[in-house]
Amino acid sequence: MPERFAGPSLWFAFRDEELLVLDGDEVRVPRSETFEELGLQTSFRWEIGLLDGTRCWAVEVDPDGEPPEGMAFRDLRSMFFTGIGGTFFRMAGRAKQIVGWHVTHRFCGRDGTETEAVKGEMAKRCPRCGIFYYPRLSPAIIVRVQDGDRILLARSPGFPPGLYSVLAGFVEPGESIEEAMRREVREETGIEIENIRYFGSQPWPFPNSLMIGYTADYAGGDLRVDPAEIEDAGWYTLDDLPMLPPEFSIARTMIEDFIEEQGGSQNS
Ligand SMILES: [Zn+2]
Repeated sequence: MPERFAGPSLWFAFRDEELLVLDGDEVRVPRSETFEELGLQTSFRWEIGLLDGTRCWAVEVDPDGEPPEGMAFRDLRSMFFTGIGGTFFRMAGRAKQIVGWHVTHRFCGRDGTETEAVKGEMAKRCPRCGIFYYPRLSPAIIVRVQDGDRILLARSPGFPPGLYSVLAGFVEPGESIEEAMRREVREETGIEIENIRYFGSQPWPFPNSLMIGYTADYAGGDLRVDPAEIEDAGWYTLDDLPMLPPEFSIARTMIEDFIEEQGGSQNS
C-alpha cells in the first residue's frame, strides 16, 4: 500500500438507510485501518474524501449485518434533527447517496444485465448495451418570498407539528430553475414573484436532492393554499414567527438571513 494511504480511515457504513455509529452522545463513525476489523461483510466500498485529514469511505453493509459491540445502526435523518455537525452530516449524506446509487443500479434497467464499475469515474456501465448510470441527483428549488417586512412561510403535511418553512419543490424535466420557482410558488400559494436572486445551495440526501436557494419579492396575487400540496401558508413578520426548520438546513439559513435583514434575532 502506498504510504499516503497508510493510517486509519473513517467508515460511513450503511445498512439500508441506517448509518453505523458508535454508542454515545456525540455522533461518530468507526475509525480503523480496515473495514474487516469491524467484523462486518461488505460487497461495496467507495472512497469519498477527507474529514479532518482522515480518509473516508462509503460502505454498504449486508442487510443481515449486526453492529459490532459498542455500535449501532441509526437513521441518519433522525440524527440530523437532533443536531449533528454540518461537515460530518455532509460527508454522511454523500456516503448515503453513493451507497444508495450502488444498491439501486446493480442491474441495467434496459436489459437486466449486471452493471460494472467504470474506472476513474463515479459511474456504472452495462457491459451489454453500454448505457452509463450515474448517481441520481434531483435539483429542487427553495425560495424565500418577501413582501416588505413580511415573509411567506408554509407547512407541508410531513412537517413536525407547528413547523413552517420557505417554499420548495422539484424542477421538472424541460423546465428552467426560474420557471420551476414561479410555478411552485403559484401552484402552492397563488402568489406571483419578481426580483429573483440567487442565495446558495445545499445537498440534501433524503433521498437525492440538491436544494438551490433563491430569494424573491411578492409581485401580486392573493394567498390561496392548494391543499393537495401544502397544509397551510401565511405571511409572517419578525414578531410572530412560527417554529422554524432545524439548523444546518438551507431553509433555516435563509430565514435567519431575513431576520438579520429585518434587524432582529431569533433563538428558538
Ligand atoms: Zn443494458
